[in-house]
Amino acid sequence: MRELTKAELRIIKELKKQDILQPPRGYQLDYRNGVIMVACADGDQLYDLFTTHAGLCPSNPNRHRIHLLTRNGGALWISRPRTFNRQTDEVGSLLKEIQKAHSMKHINAVALYTHVPCGVADEFNTDIVTNLKLLIEAKILVRPLSPDFQTAEFFHVDYGQGKKRSYYVSPEKFREWLKSKRS
Ligand SMILES: [Zn+2]
Repeated sequence: MRELTKAELRIIKELKKQDILQPPRGYQLDYRNGVIMVACADGDQLYDLFTTHAGLCPSNPNRHRIHLLTRNGGALWISRPRTFNRQTDEVGSLLKEIQKAHSMKHINAVALYTHVPCGVADEFNTDIVTNLKLLIEAKILVRPLSPDFQTAEFFHVDYGQGKKRSYYVSPEKFREWLKSKRS
């Protein structure tokens, strides 16, 4: 696994400063009935990501009710399959899995994850900002699957030397920031 580049560390610092990346908290999704989590299958990161998420609502008796759906690249390739050279029907199958999880288990909360460093993102040379855009687009495709769905986006960072952090991504602040950079 590679280390983060200086440019990546700089952009993460900026995203934190702009409050786009925020500490994950139990109130960002309604976890009362558990959560459907869509994440990269990366075994170097999944345990940290999973256990951090499971600890978000210590008083919730369903806090370990995490319905985990993994793919290489996680939620990234829901949004723009061509970017990741995926077939549209593969994406459809992941969306179907999300819907199935919801109808079988009656879970309304969906947590969409991307992470860095991610082998799939590296393979297709998408940077952190692009990956966050794809993550927000993924939510737009997931939401219409059910009127009961509530989604939130998360970003996991492996800083190296054992330091790993999960962040909630504020879509509003991210959009404002993108707009301010364009003007
Ligand atoms: Zn990955």
